[in-house]
Formats: sequence, structure tokens, C-alpha cells
Amino acid sequence: MPRQVRVIGGGIIGLSCAHLLQKAGYAVTIIARDFPAPFETTDPIAKINYTSPWGGAHNRWVPPHPSLPAHFTRDHALSLRTYTHMQRLHATHPHTAGITFLKGIEYLERPGPEYLALSTPSSPNALDLPGFRLLAPSDLLRDGRVTWGCEYDTWCVNPMVYCSFLLRRFVHRGGKVVTREVTRPEEVFSMSLDEGGLAPAPDSKSESEKKGEEEKGEEEGIVAAVVNASGTGLVPDPDMTVTRGQTVLVAEGCDATVTRQNADGSWTFCVPRGFDGGTVIGGTKELNNWDVKPSAEVREELLRKFTETYPNILGGGGGGGKRRLTVLRDIVGRRPTRNGGPRIEGELVPGAGFVMHAYGLGGRGYELSWGVAEAVVEGIEKHVNGEESKS
Ligand SMILES: Cc1cc2nc3c(=O)[nH]c(=O)nc-3n(C[C@H](O)[C@H](O)[C@H](O)COP(=O)(O)OP(=O)(O)OC[C@H]3O[C@@H](n4cnc5c(N)ncnc54)[C@H](O)[C@@H]3O)c2cc1C
Repeated sequence: MPRQVRVIGGGIIGLSCAHLLQKAGYAVTIIARDFPAPFETTDPIAKINYTSPWGGAHNRWVPPHPSLPAHFTRDHALSLRTYTHMQRLHATHPHTAGITFLKGIEYLERPGPEYLALSTPSSPNALDLPGFRLLAPSDLLRDGRVTWGCEYDTWCVNPMVYCSFLLRRFVHRGGKVVTREVTRPEEVFSMSLDEGGLAPAPDSKSESEKKGEEEKGEEEGIVAAVVNASGTGLVPDPDMTVTRGQTVLVAEGCDATVTRQNADGSWTFCVPRGFDGGTVIGGTKELNNWDVKPSAEVREELLRKFTETYPNILGGGGGGGKRRLTVLRDIVGRRPTRNGGPRIEGELVPGAGFVMHAYGLGGRGYELSWGVAEAVVEGIEKHVNGEESKS
């Protein structure tokens, strides 16, 4: 029975998939051009197409609704599953995983039907959002523009602390990593992985260990599946594009992750990264914009709008706080956006093998990560067991 799976991608999706595949008993190798590294040394231009360092990253619940595309319903289920995993990881690794649980606050100037449905007295919180509470009019901002608000329990991660934690655990459990660029998922089935990787030096193994590995190697020789967690897809896909995001990292912490949706379609938010990572203040969402350079004017606008929305971040009320946030760096990232939602499905590629796609996560890669990984394992198990391959 084939037991080997190769994962293309060392971002949040590839790492999460690799983990659950490893847990399901597969011998897993991650092959990627980019892997997690300290955020402080990550080059904004060289790594522009590696999105995971540039995410916030928080979990903001996105309500599904009959008026919205069907994938919102699927994605909400994925986010609930991810929340449960995050709770478990945080409980077992509170000081090392890079996860913080905190309050999420939302302010909306012009709420759509999906938000208004959450206020229906007959079914408040029909989506089972943990700690959900509607804000009373007296709790809303007094600028006369915010008309709806809520709060709930949620989590944030410090992206590179969290991704490095995942990578470390994967390797410690026997996972292999290979730094390499590939052209198509198909080539990965027959790719020789002799060079690269972090396998222990051969001399450190006993003869019986070596023999055992040889036998295991034969058994694991067949690649059962390749996971395509390459962010933007690597395969021709007319639905793929990017959504540029400019944010700014400040040194201050914040006691909540706050999001404001403005009537003109713009966003004002903060994501405290925790673990000495400061707070991301955001942010723009610019479809099809490939510009890598941050704009100083946009930065000032983001800071102004956020401090007006949530002055608590400046600390101390009654004039006792700071006047200005401490800017550490501008951030520009490319959300791998797919019209119709993320592609999470299996494909039997003639002459190659079973490719499980998991790309196009847009602005929700962290939020949906464990749910996507579960779906990937399910898809591969179905294929291996000869069942229907499409998920
Ligand atoms: C400004 C901003 C804010 C965001 N905020 C949030 C947030 O608050 N919450 C949230 O959930 N999400 C957020 N996101 C989105 C999130 O960051 C992405 O959805 C997520 O990082 C995508 O992860 P990924 O693993 O799919 O892709 P990536 O992180 O891009 O990883 C892709 C991997 O595939 C590899 N790869 C690609 N092509 C090749 C190739 N040819 N050969 C070999 N390897 C290859 C890369 O090297 C990399 O390892 C934000 C994004 C931005 C830009």
C-alpha cells in the first residue's frame, strides 16, 4: 500500500496539511521554494510571492448567507474546525506555538444581510460563534457612522513564530523538507529527493536502523499523492489572481483584534501578533494589484483611521496615553485570491498520479488552515481506498 505523500508548499497551508498527513500515518516530504524564517530578516521583495509571512494573522469570523456564494458556507465550517485545533494547540503549547486567544471586535458602518441575520432575535448567533455578543448602541463608536457591532472569542498568531513551530514539530516527527522550485505538480511524483532535506547523518544510524529504513523505503516508494499547497496554484487556473494588502507593523500591543468595515468599502483593522511581534495595523485589499512598494500616504491613513477607531491602542485614557504609534515597518503582501473560493479538490493527472489541490486561500489561509488540512487528508484517504476523489 502506498504510504508516501509529497507536499508542495511551506506556507501555512502546506505545513498544516503535512502535519495531519503525518498524523494519519503517511511518510511526508515538503518541497518548497520558501520556508518560514524570522520575520525581521524576511526580505519584502524577494519573498513577495510567499504570502504567509505577510499575513496578520487573526481569525475573523466571516458569516455565510444565502445571498453569498456557496463556498462561504463550506469555508465557515473550515474556520470552526480550525478554531478547535487552535484551542488544542494553544492549550498544549501556550509559550511556543505563537497563538494568542483574545477578544475580536467588529464595527460595521453598513452591515450586509449576513451580519443583520446575526441580530435576528429568533436566532441570535445561529453560526455558533464562540463568545458571540451583539454590541448595544451605547457600545458602538460615537462617530455616527458605525451602525452595527459585535464581539466574540477568537485567536491571532504571530505568523513566523507559528509557522516555524509547525515546521519544527513536523521535522522532529520524522518529516523531510527539501528546498526546491518546481514547475508543475506532476514532476514531483518522480522527483529525486536525494539532495537537500534535513535527514540525520547516515553515520548516526545503526545497521539495523539502516536495514529497517531500506525496507520502509521500499514500502514507501510509491508516492500516493502530491498536495498542491503552492499558494497561487502552479497550474493554469483562470480564476486565480492576487489581492494586494498594505499594512503597517507597530511595536505596541493591543488587547483585542478590531475590525471596522467602512461604508466606502475600505477596511480598518488591527491584529496583535503577540510573542513580542507588535501589532499589524491594516489594511488595503486591492484586487489584481501587483505593486510591491508600500505607500507612505497609505501608511499614515491606516494609522490615523485605526487610532480614531480604537484609541485604546495608544494606552491610558484621559490624555495619559501616547500620541503616536511606533512604526516598525510597512508590509505589502499578495493574498492568493481565487474567484469562486479556494480550490480544495483532488485530480487524477494522467501519467502522473493523484494531485490534491489546496490553493487560492485569499485572505483566509490561517483562518481555514486546519479545516483545509482535514479535507486534504480525507481526499487522499478516499483516493488511496479507491473511493470518489473529488471533495
Ligand atoms: C496583508 C495580509 C493580511 C492577511 N491577514 C490574514 C489574516 O488575518 N488571517 C488569515 O487567515 N489570513 C490572512 N492573510 C492571508 C494569508 O496570509 C494567506 O491566505 C496564506 O498565507 C496563504 O498561505 P499558502 O500556504 O496558501 O501560500 P504561501 O504562504 O504563499 O505559501 C506557498 C508555498 O508554496 C511554495 N511554492 C510556490 N510556488 C512554488 C514553486 N514553483 N516551487 C516550489 N515551491 C513553490 C512557496 O515557496 C511557499 O512555500 C493575509 C494576507 C495578507 C497579504
